[in-house]
This record gives sequence, structure tokens and C-alpha cells, in this order.
Amino acid sequence: MRETRLFRSVLAIGAIGLAAAACSDGNGATPEEAVVGPEAGPSMAAAPAGRGGPALPGLLRGYKRIVDLTQTLDENTPVIGLPAPFANSPGYSREEISFFDARGPEWAWYAIHLGEHTGTHMDVPCHWLSGRFGDCIDDIPAEELVGPAIVIDVRDKVANDDDYLVTVEDARAWERRHGRIPAGAWVILQTGWSSRYNDPAAYLNGGHSPGPSKELSEFLAYERDVRGIGVETVGTDAGMAGTFDPAFPNHNIMLGAGKYGLTSLTNVDQLPAKGALLIAAPVKLRDGTGAPVRVLAFVP
Ligand code: MN
Repeated sequence: MRETRLFRSVLAIGAIGLAAAACSDGNGATPEEAVVGPEAGPSMAAAPAGRGGPALPGLLRGYKRIVDLTQTLDENTPVIGLPAPFANSPGYSREEISFFDARGPEWAWYAIHLGEHTGTHMDVPCHWLSGRFGDCIDDIPAEELVGPAIVIDVRDKVANDDDYLVTVEDARAWERRHGRIPAGAWVILQTGWSSRYNDPAAYLNGGHSPGPSKELSEFLAYERDVRGIGVETVGTDAGMAGTFDPAFPNHNIMLGAGKYGLTSLTNVDQLPAKGALLIAAPVKLRDGTGAPVRVLAFVP
């Protein structure tokens, strides 16, 4: 995979350009929603600095708000549970190294322990058999960590069915309203499931939680060439997907196609259906199959 890295970087730059074109050409979207910023020109340079610091320069100018889509990692962070005989991943824990005491009178710090796939995290191709020889976390070019996001709202369907599988028709309904899903987009499935996050039993729900249908994963990977899907649930497949054929179809299809996944997102209800720009930057673990990720959305 290392030999192909430079080549993939070149492709990624091309993909960002294509995504920008897809956002602004022929599908009803306007230039204001282009990937490189909702307002062309230097207008943001004159905007007042917020409490968080100076106005956003260059690439990010024109976006008005930043939404943090990341859950806080702590000892209560829900972790996916696999049935026997499969091995399970530990949750998050930490121990004090010192806390302003004899072990370190002027400093506090901790050692942390967690599985790669804990809390809000990114899945990458080498996580799955179908993508085994593809990219790991440290192979992902920086350009691939920034891209447009679209949001498909299926909360009404999930309200009546914990096991709801988001369909190709749901995606096509989104496209009828908003235009073609651009290549290179993060496709966020808005299920409302993050409202359960602080109650791990309700969040894991005995293995019953929504996810993409196999057909949706195929459609998005092969016909729309998206960057990956993002979900509010503990994993990018439905809770019962271990019983599907193939098992865990979204992992199988997306990671096999060189795509990624984002899990345990929150604040999705603060995003527009389209027009947000996501920065999803995972901790750069060598040969990581996934990693905790900070996901920030820049919203017009
Ligand atoms: Mn994962």
C-alpha cells in the first residue's frame, strides 16, 4: 500500500476538485456550496473575530459556524459487543501518572487504554478482510480527511423501527431535493440515535440499531464514489448486520472499495442537508485499522 501512496494523493487532489465541481454543476447546487468555501472572495477577512480566535483564513473562509460532531471519550463510552466466539474490544480507561503530587508536583497526566474502535472513530480499509491490503490509518492522505458532507434524515423511520435499514430510495429522495450526491462526500445517516449515547444499554439496545442496507452501501460506493458513511450508532453497520449476507455488509463493501467510515457521531441535527465541510482527523496510528477521530463540521 505504501508504494501507491503518492499516486493516491494525486488522485485525492483530483477527487476534491471533482467534488467541488459536482457541488456546483448541474445539480441545482450553487457556487456558494462549493467545497472550498460558501463565499468566494475575501469577505471573511473582514468578519469580526469570534471568542475562539481570528477569522478562518483561506480555504475555510465564509463558513459561519463550527459544529463538533465528536462524542467525549470516557469510561462510559459504549463499545460494540460481539457474540462468542469472537474477541471483544476494551472500552476506555485511564490511570493517573501524577496529579500535582509527589509523582509530579506541578503537572497532571494520565495513561490511557482503549481499543482503536472506541467512541467516535474512523474505520479504514485495512480493518476488513475485503480491504485487508488497502490503506491503514497512517496511509490516508491529508486531503482525504477534508471533504463535503451530506445528511440523509431518516429519523421518522427509525422512530418506528430500531432495526431500520436506510435504503437506496432514501438516498434517491435526498437527491430529488438536493441534487446528486457528490463524489468524495461523507454521507451521514441521521437516525437520531446519538440521543441514547449517555445510556449505553439503550444505545447498544441489545444489538438492535439502524444502519445502511447492503444495497445502499453498494450504491454509494460504486455509483456515487463517496468518501464513506458516517453514523450516530456504535458501528457503521446495523446492529443485526452480523446475521446478514454478507455479514456486516457496509464494512465489507465500503472498506473493500477503499472507502472509510465514521461512527458514534453527535450533533448531526446541527448540520444542513448539504453544504457542510467535514474535517475528520484520526489519531495517526501506524498500521491502525481505525482510530479515535475528532470530527469538525464547517457550516455555511
Ligand atoms: Mn470501527
